[in-house]
Amino acid sequence: MTMSFSNLSLAEPLARAVAEMGYETMTPIQAQAIPVVLSGQDVMGAAQTGTGKTAAFSLPLLQRMLKHENASTSPARHPVRALVLLPTRELADQVAQQIKLYAKYTNLRSTVVFGGIDMKPQTLELKKGVEVLVATPGRLLDHIEAKNAVLNQVEYVVLDEADRMLDIGFLPDLQRILSYLPKQRTTLLFSATFSPEIKRLAGSYLQNPVTIEVARPNETASTVEQHFYSVSDDDKRRALKQIVRQRGITQAFVFVNSKLGCARLARSLERDGLRTSALHGDKSQDERLKSLAAFKAGEVDLLVCTDVAARGLDIKDVPAVFNFDIPFNAEDYVHRIGRTGRAGASGLAVSFASGGNDARLVADIEKLIKKKIELEPVEFEEDRPRGRINDGRRHWREEGEAGDARDVLDQPRERRDSDGRRSMSGGGRPHRAPAAPRDPFFDKPYESGEREAAPAWEASAKAAPTRGISSNIKSKRKVAALFKAAEPG
Ligand code: AMP
Repeated sequence: MTMSFSNLSLAEPLARAVAEMGYETMTPIQAQAIPVVLSGQDVMGAAQTGTGKTAAFSLPLLQRMLKHENASTSPARHPVRALVLLPTRELADQVAQQIKLYAKYTNLRSTVVFGGIDMKPQTLELKKGVEVLVATPGRLLDHIEAKNAVLNQVEYVVLDEADRMLDIGFLPDLQRILSYLPKQRTTLLFSATFSPEIKRLAGSYLQNPVTIEVARPNETASTVEQHFYSVSDDDKRRALKQIVRQRGITQAFVFVNSKLGCARLARSLERDGLRTSALHGDKSQDERLKSLAAFKAGEVDLLVCTDVAARGLDIKDVPAVFNFDIPFNAEDYVHRIGRTGRAGASGLAVSFASGGNDARLVADIEKLIKKKIELEPVEFEEDRPRGRINDGRRHWREEGEAGDARDVLDQPRERRDSDGRRSMSGGGRPHRAPAAPRDPFFDKPYESGEREAAPAWEASAKAAPTRGISSNIKSKRKVAALFKAAEPG
């Protein structure tokens, strides 16, 4: 059954904003969640970004907060009433932008705070008073500690992408933040999966929640054509370029499991002449927002990214998704390929399985999506003479490279280094900053005699010694690019 927004009797300013956005019918999560939130009950929602989840919680929250609306300039008249917590800066930014649009015809104020950028402008906004505060947990704690944010009048809290917040290690931060909130409040928890940890979190902080589930969480859209190719690590990049060419793919996400692999792949694809950008946790906030904007504007063809960086980003109509690495968690496969084939459009998902652990990871995916996966060979158009010992390339994933868990975009408080401060006391065991991924390749002498000038951002990278080169080895390789090793996550 389709449900129109007009059935909701939304207040005029909200209805006007929704109409302006062009929404007519509610998405399934909206149809189910909005009436429940309007009635003031807690919600435990299984829904991913892309389902209209943001409007599903923001519209009813805004509606319920309209009674506090006022045009006063006094900050005291605009205390934080609703708090929305998200795991990453991009998601926080995205959700905050949507909330601003929904609230534009009201006098309710909103702002967003996340780590990795200067606190001062955020502080100024907070001091002016805001009713809706969107935040990542670490930075919010900074503001609480600095007394920029007072949460004793919060009536609504949304824990969005809760499973990812726990994956990143935000549980102690969340517990601490929740301890500052009034007991009497409405709590909404959204998560792609209801793992035992999520259920425990819900058990502790939600009161008789209404469970709302849209679409089976582990479903892959039937509109996505899925292929798994058996290809060696060395041949993955060639395979990717060939498929892009053969299929005439205009834009794609390329997922890799580590920050180091992400940076390196992006640079080598760029060198191959593809318009590429990288999105991972070691990039500065500014670089990441620029990468995203460039991709959205169609100025970049391939967005090479890690799971944490790309989770939930609202980028529509991506024709293809590549799993350059098979994800460590089968659920991430579902999230990754959910970036394509949205809203009934057809999409292509290509995954490269090489040796090692990949067979097991593919079997996990098979089990999760309940579909038989056939591994196909890649037939290269211009098969080069084989048998070269080393053509200057190497395995992408090497011992010591970190996986997704290190790609922490807004790091749990204990791990943060942006402000150079350690954790404030409470809330759980301290995390030790993970060591920078070590790449044994860099301990070995480089096998090329030729070196190209390093771009400025790599200028600090150490140069590698060189040694003799086999006639079989192509020497064109930017050494410095390889030294952009990930800093501690
Ligand atoms: P979300 O899952 O909240 O990130 O939303 C995904 C996208 O769907 C966003 O670009 C929203 O603007 C859009 N959207 C949300 N609700 C609706 C709706 N009822 N009709 C059409 N588009 C919507």
